[in-house]
Amino acid sequence: MKFFVVTLFEEMFHAWAESGLVGQALKKQNFQMEFINPRSFTSDVHQAVDDKVYGGGDGMAAMFGPWSEAIEFAMQKEPSAQVIFLTPQGESWNQKKVSEFLQRKPSQEMGIRSFVFVCGRYAGFDERLVKAYADHEISIGDYVLNGGELAAMVVMESLVRGLPGVLGESSSFRKDSFGEEGLLECPQFTRPQSVKGMDVPSFLLSGHHKNIEALSRAISIVRTKNRRPELLEKAQISSKELEAAEKLIRQLSEEERDLLGVNS
Ligand code: SAM
Repeated sequence: MKFFVVTLFEEMFHAWAESGLVGQALKKQNFQMEFINPRSFTSDVHQAVDDKVYGGGDGMAAMFGPWSEAIEFAMQKEPSAQVIFLTPQGESWNQKKVSEFLQRKPSQEMGIRSFVFVCGRYAGFDERLVKAYADHEISIGDYVLNGGELAAMVVMESLVRGLPGVLGESSSFRKDSFGEEGLLECPQFTRPQSVKGMDVPSFLLSGHHKNIEALSRAISIVRTKNRRPELLEKAQISSKELEAAEKLIRQLSEEERDLLGVNS
């Protein structure tokens, strides 16, 4: 997978691209990344990439010229690349979209799967840039950031996690919250066994793997119901399955249920 990032602030990406799993994945060439600065496509002395918006007001928007040339530069390198504009007005990014984007396989002639992320600044883009180039407009949430860089990193990292060879435990991409089943993951514990009056739930210490699996799934279902009921509806968990999960967690103590967030 290759990411082209159209941005005025490449330096924002450096620490991210060098750290943790993303850093390792980049080193192993699980994905590639190239930055394109719209300022490189200016010819005036100020290297202007923004201008006053029409209609009054003091807002400045990304100008068509340098931004369109930056996007076209990427597309010349990878003509099959999908262009993604980061904008608070776009479709909400979520794990389902991550899977959809990962599943779309390029045909042989298309070459490597590539995306161009366009990171806005100021008041946003001249809308004609979006009309001319966007395959997708993506928002990472209903709030406004100063620029698209953080949003691009969020989207890229969620995609990188799903690339073959990136996560050590290959099933964790499917088992994480919002994964294959669309549920929240069961809470995790590590040593010490007892801390601040809270004990690791005893079923996790039993060594009985079938029982651990069944209870973990039941906890996942009930925790999702308590925290994100709308996800449970989408996950297509039948009322019979929910009842069975609720019955199963009754074998946990009151304290354990409280700790696991499954008390009703
Ligand atoms: N005036 C725009 C509006 O109200 O829709 C907001 C512009 S914002 C200050 C500047 C840039 O930050 C946007 O062009 C976009 O690239 C990025 N941005 C801000 N919030 C975002 C979000 N929630 N998701 C994705 N990108 C965002």
